[in-house]
Amino acid sequence: MDEQFASDNYSGICPEAIAALIQANQGSAPAYGEDDWTQRAADRFRQLFETDCEVFLVFNGTAGNSLVLAALCQSYHSVIAHELAHIETDECGAPEFFSNGAKLLLGAGDQGKLTPEAIAAIVHRRNDIHYPKPKVVSLTQPTEVGTLYSLTELGAVCATAKQYGLKIHMDGARFANAIAALDCTPAEMTWKLGVDVLCFGGTKNGLPLGEAVIFFNKALAEDFDYRCKQAGQLASKMRFIAAPLLGVLETGAWLHHARHANASAAYLAQRLGEIPEAKLLFPPQANAVFVELPPVVIQTLRDQGWRFYTFIGVGGVRLMCAWNTTRDRIDALIAAIQRALSHSPA
Ligand SMILES: *Cc1c(COP(=O)(O)O)cnc(C)c1O
Repeated sequence: MDEQFASDNYSGICPEAIAALIQANQGSAPAYGEDDWTQRAADRFRQLFETDCEVFLVFNGTAGNSLVLAALCQSYHSVIAHELAHIETDECGAPEFFSNGAKLLLGAGDQGKLTPEAIAAIVHRRNDIHYPKPKVVSLTQPTEVGTLYSLTELGAVCATAKQYGLKIHMDGARFANAIAALDCTPAEMTWKLGVDVLCFGGTKNGLPLGEAVIFFNKALAEDFDYRCKQAGQLASKMRFIAAPLLGVLETGAWLHHARHANASAAYLAQRLGEIPEAKLLFPPQANAVFVELPPVVIQTLRDQGWRFYTFIGVGGVRLMCAWNTTRDRIDALIAAIQRALSHSPA
C-alpha cells in the first residue's frame, strides 16, 4: 500500500529498529525481561531522563495507560482527563476495566488541553462520599488533536494537580514529537514538573510494537510487574520489544524521526494553506494536521484510495505524518484535493 496519512501507526519499522532487532536475534537470551537488551533499554531511559526511574515494557499504549491508572487508583477513585483523551475515547473502557471501576471525570479545554481551572472545578464539584474520589490527573502530550502544552501550561496544570494531592500520569504516545517540537529535555517535560508516571510511545515513531512505562515516582511501581503479567503484558521474548527501542534511543533516531514527522506536518499544513476550501481546525504543533474539507472532496479522496480518519477529536480530516512521510506523497495528496475541488460543483 502507498504511504497513508491515516495514522502514524500505518508506517513501517524504521531502519535503526530493524538493525537492533536483527542483532538481538543472534542466539538465545533469557526470557521475560531478564535479558541484557531489556536491562540496557531501562538504563538508557534512566540516562535520558537524568534520574533513577522504574521502567516496564508493554505491548501497546492502551495497556500502558490502563495498567498505570489501575496502579494509581483504587476502584472507588477517579481520574481527571480531557474529554478528548485517548483513555476516554479510544481505549474501549480499558482504564475502567483494569482499575475495577475507577471513573474518568472529563474536563473541557481549548485545543485538547486541560486547564488548572477545569481540574479545580472537577475537584470542587463534589467532595462527599457518594462520588468517586479524584486521585489522578491524566495529560496527553502532545494532545489528541496535535497540539502541545507549553512547559508553562504543563507546569500550571501539574501544580494544580499537586495542590489537590493528585498523582500525574502523562500519556506520551507521541512523546518524542513533543520533545522535538518544544526543544526541551525529557526531564524538563516530566518529573521536574511533578509527572509521576509517563507512558512513552514507540510504535508510532518507528518501532514494530512496544511502549515503555516509566515511573519517576518509584513507590508507585510496587508490584507493577505482577500487574503486567496478570494483564497479559509480560512479553516472554521481551528482548524483541527492548532491542528496537534501544536501537532508536542509542542512535538518537527517536528524536530525528520525530523531528521529521513534525516538519512533514508543518509542510502539509503550509500546502493546505494554499487551498481556500481547506480550513485547519487546530494549530499543527506536532505531527498531526486536522483539516475541514468539503464532504464531496472527502468522498472523492476515499474513492481514490486515500486513507484517513474523520472520527478523532472534534471531527474533520485527521492527517498524521510519520518518520517516513515524504514530500512527494504530501504533494500528491494536495494535488488530489485540488483536483477533487476543481471537479466538484461550486
Ligand atoms: C495511539 C495512542 C495510544 C496507544 O494506542 P494503542 O493502539 O493501544 O497502542 C495512546 N494514547 C494516544 C494519545 C494515542 O494516540
